[in-house]
Amino acid sequence: MEFTTIAKAKKETKLSYLGGINTSSKIAKNMKVNVMTYCLYLSPAYTSGYDVCEYSTVECRLGCLATSGRAKIDIRSNHNIISKARIAKTKLFFEQRDFFFGWLIAEIEMYKRKAERLGYVFNVRLNGISDIDWQNEIAFFGLNIFETFSDIQFYDYTKNHNKFNNKPLNYDLTYSYHGRNWDICLELLNKGVNIAMVFNVKKETELPLTYKGYTVVNGDLNDNRVADAKGLIVGLKWKRIENKANEERVLKSVFVVNPTDEGFNK
Ligand code: SF4
Repeated sequence: MEFTTIAKAKKETKLSYLGGINTSSKIAKNMKVNVMTYCLYLSPAYTSGYDVCEYSTVECRLGCLATSGRAKIDIRSNHNIISKARIAKTKLFFEQRDFFFGWLIAEIEMYKRKAERLGYVFNVRLNGISDIDWQNEIAFFGLNIFETFSDIQFYDYTKNHNKFNNKPLNYDLTYSYHGRNWDICLELLNKGVNIAMVFNVKKETELPLTYKGYTVVNGDLNDNRVADAKGLIVGLKWKRIENKANEERVLKSVFVVNPTDEGFNK
């Protein structure tokens, strides 16, 4: 497959888009702080047959946001349109690399122009629900995506601590706690890196003010992680997922921090 235009790519793949803006309620909240975010959602872990989350854990795979929000409604309707599209996009990335990056670059350019026209700050999150190391992927004439768009701010969450070595200047990364990596979290916190942590608190309940002595900020207000002060914990409230049995298991696991845990300070 050869990429020529977005319109032809859509026709050829029968996909409506590769990535987009406002594709989840969390990303859409960035608009309220004048940031337009282009986000790409692939199919997490190895649900497509290809592993896009090298550092995933059994708990995070069970609790993955892949089945929350709009995808949850899609699964309930038995259509699975969103999941199937994410699998198709992931396969494109692995099997039609040049086509995939041609389309990705064209969409980023299109939304960058749109953001400029409407007066928004523009940024890009490529690992909506994946953890690909984009620094190692050639996007365009020997350059990775950060080099291709050196004037654009990228950001992601990651469980891969190796990504912090030689991280490009235009790539903001928040490291994710998964329950068994507190030592790495501490090391990174002390270097000024932020840690995303999922707390078992209800929507209407406040997040803790601190956890183990580190300030906790509310990461659910928007997804504009680039603007966060550094060296703190980005608290995220547990989001309901489609499979209730999995939800129960994850809530009892080390992945989710409970109010009864040592260090939880209201
Ligand atoms: S690493 Fe993140 S995206 Fe991948 S399965 Fe775990 S929670 Fe989902």
